[in-house]
Amino acid sequence: MKNSLILCSVFCVLCSVLISGCNEQNTPAKSTPVKNTLRETPKKPCNCPEDNSLSTVDGLAKYVAPLPAVHGARRWQNSYSDGLVIETAHYRIYTTMLEPLMLRQIPAFVEAAWREYQRQLPVPVGGGNKFTVYIFKDRQQWESYTRSFTGGQAEVYLKIKKGAYYLNGQCVAYNIGRTRTFSILGHEGWHQFCDKYFKYRLPSWLDEGIAQLFEYSDFENGQFVFNPAKNYQRLGALRLSIQEKNVIPLKDLILLNPGEVVMQEQADKAVMAFYAQSYAMVRFLREEGYGKRLLCYQKMLLGALNGTWPLDAAETAIASNKSSPPTVEWNKYIAQKLFDVYVGEDIERISPEYYRFCKKIVYYIRVK
Ligand SMILES: [Zn+2]
Repeated sequence: MKNSLILCSVFCVLCSVLISGCNEQNTPAKSTPVKNTLRETPKKPCNCPEDNSLSTVDGLAKYVAPLPAVHGARRWQNSYSDGLVIETAHYRIYTTMLEPLMLRQIPAFVEAAWREYQRQLPVPVGGGNKFTVYIFKDRQQWESYTRSFTGGQAEVYLKIKKGAYYLNGQCVAYNIGRTRTFSILGHEGWHQFCDKYFKYRLPSWLDEGIAQLFEYSDFENGQFVFNPAKNYQRLGALRLSIQEKNVIPLKDLILLNPGEVVMQEQADKAVMAFYAQSYAMVRFLREEGYGKRLLCYQKMLLGALNGTWPLDAAETAIASNKSSPPTVEWNKYIAQKLFDVYVGEDIERISPEYYRFCKKIVYYIRVK
């Protein structure tokens, strides 16, 4: 059981990998502009160093240090390979991934993601230590770090085929290509943000559904712009689930967690449906009917942030305990309770509207 709960944080990654091929093909080419238009200081219209300095750690540190989002960059002494520590307003990034274009964009990306996480909430949050992010240059380094970091749980985390995970305050990733690395950093970054600022843990469907809002971003005019409606990876998965009649009933969806889903028959399809439908459910609550449920959604999140869900003392202790994974039973209990309290509609009555919304957001998606 413990492993299945740990897998909650793992299989969102596996799911993204399972359908990433579809995403790569469907993602518009314009999502990866090479032209760099980040705002430079007037006195330094171009901070490009001598070409040969980009092949040294010190040269790369000088290369990224003047960027607007960067508060500092220095050599990272580690046992893996040459590396950098890059500080931004809210993040401390340890990386052995020294690809110049990605290095240049990562600070702006994580700060843009932070602002986007913040926008989920009607009140500002902040304070405390900076978030820790590791980005390794390859899987070998990532596996080595994961073995020492996760200890007895290492075998579970090493099942991740490609990507990243969030655990105990750290987001640990490796380079799987610019688009997919940023996608997974956006996703795992939400879990990191949520874990730090929220008093209560969210039920699985809600936590995973929100995390997927940050998987797609465009780089436009020197800034990252997140657009959940263009998350073609999840839209493709949703379309496929509808097409193949693998849609999970809404009353079951809100009670599930990824660890349970992966134990089902045809686990790959079930995991894909769980994530895609959770993503769709969050968008449904935020968008459908001109946002008629947005206030309920925000109250539910605000209750988790401030610890004001209507819980008794015993329930409060469980909801706020972040030192161990939630049980399957608790996830089911709190998911149903929150739905009843905050959404406040009969789930059988709301289901047809949700399915119509799912069909609406994928009507233009073609799946081969
Ligand atoms: Zn996740």
